[in-house]
Amino acid sequence: MICAVIQTSFLGDMILTTPLIERLSREGEVHVVATPVNAALLANHPAVTSVIVYDKRKTDSGLGGLRRVAARLRATGATTAYMAQGSWRTAALARLAGVHSVGFNRSAGRWLYSRRVEYRTDWHHAQRLWALANAPHDAEPAEPEARRPSLYPGADDNARVTALLEAAGIGAGEALIAMAPGSVWATKRWPSYDALAGELTARLPHSRIVVLGASGDAPLAAAISVAVHRRGGPPVVDATGKLSLLGSAALLSRCAVLVTNDSAPLHLASAMNTPTIALFGPTVPSMGFGPLADQRVTLGRDELTCRPCSAHGGQACPLGHWRCMRDLRAHAVGEAMARMSRPS
Ligand code: SF4
Repeated sequence: MICAVIQTSFLGDMILTTPLIERLSREGEVHVVATPVNAALLANHPAVTSVIVYDKRKTDSGLGGLRRVAARLRATGATTAYMAQGSWRTAALARLAGVHSVGFNRSAGRWLYSRRVEYRTDWHHAQRLWALANAPHDAEPAEPEARRPSLYPGADDNARVTALLEAAGIGAGEALIAMAPGSVWATKRWPSYDALAGELTARLPHSRIVVLGASGDAPLAAAISVAVHRRGGPPVVDATGKLSLLGSAALLSRCAVLVTNDSAPLHLASAMNTPTIALFGPTVPSMGFGPLADQRVTLGRDELTCRPCSAHGGQACPLGHWRCMRDLRAHAVGEAMARMSRPS
């Protein structure tokens, strides 16, 4: 069997699509249509036969780009496309490529699909995507299990992490605590990472804090660094903007625990099975995007009736008070983190 998986959404969605890709690879070739950013995540992945890069906003924008990508998809010999992203555009891509398409019954492009699969709101998104490969009359699993995603950092990614840690003077036996304070959505950014870092300096004096994120997250890393310095702690390792996505995954694989917002690092940690503390504000784990590491904790102000207030989190709290994040105390997160940290 030769098939395709079309996933042109956010980074986290791509990571959560890897269990579906692995499942399909047991039957034959799997060609993945992905954005340039998401394509980088799939490097070295043994379940992926090839990646067709679809730069839908730049070089492949418009009908001409759609036709070019459809021709490349057709050339793979794929007979079925699994629609992990549900827009009209990707549905049209499958049609133009002349492949059978299987997607969710709630997707915008569902009217163009050859077969529609129920979108289970009570399942983790990794499980929902995995179930796209179910045969039409497969029995429903008694207990839907959330499938763990997978990523494969290469030798270069690991070498960069080693160099970063060595430059910071971190020895082999030193426990690392990762923090990922960023998010493209402002309401998802927990505002107390610096307070948490200060508290952990006293609680876990033999651990080092590493901050992950994009280059734009450097000011958040600087605030954490200042808080630790004030408490007399060892220097924080600022990895923001210094590693590729797979490099960040490689770094996470060396960390005892990650504390993160509901954002891409959460899913990187799931793929590397790094113990995870996920902080949810305007979104909630039951939407299907919680952590999947064996050791995981989700924290949020469940008593707030305004949660969740949007699918992705907005740039400002519609009620103005932002209590979902402001009321999440550093002390409570520190308690959870201290329980989960596993100093070596
Ligand atoms: S409306 Fe509620 S859930 Fe949404 S950002 Fe404000 S406090 Fe958070």
